[in-house]
Amino acid sequence: MDDCLFCRIVAGEIPATVVHESEQVLAFQDVNPQAPVHVLVIPKRHVGNIGELGAHPESAAYVLAGIRAVADELNLQSYRTVFNTGGDSGQTVFHVHAHVLSGRSFGWPPG
Ligand code: 5GP
Ligand code: ZN
Repeated sequence: MDDCLFCRIVAGEIPATVVHESEQVLAFQDVNPQAPVHVLVIPKRHVGNIGELGAHPESAAYVLAGIRAVADELNLQSYRTVFNTGGDSGQTVFHVHAHVLSGRSFGWPPG
């Protein structure tokens, strides 16, 4: 996906501050953090959103493993994980990504 921002980060064409990497997954700092810790976890394979991820269970498992690895590496005791899906939810990059947010309190229910 030449025109996909996150595929370009995977390809190394756009720099990112990488927190964790495996053969299947990349985790990097969000450029516009919404919390003291704000990491994006993506499958290296292009998948558009979490709904599509359900059709690729192996990629889904890798993303979950990536979230766990980020939590371990950053020693996160408490964190919120968000997948925005579709424009109304706030999704702006259509390559599935888990937002891993930590370092402050988050309200519930979300606004
Ligand atoms: P979404 O709104 O799709 O759920 O989340 C996209 C996220 O990607 C946003 O939090 C935004 O700050 C982040 N983002 C957008 N462009 C870049 C970029 O070039 N580099 C990094 N590291 N994050 C980006
Ligand atoms: Zn992509």
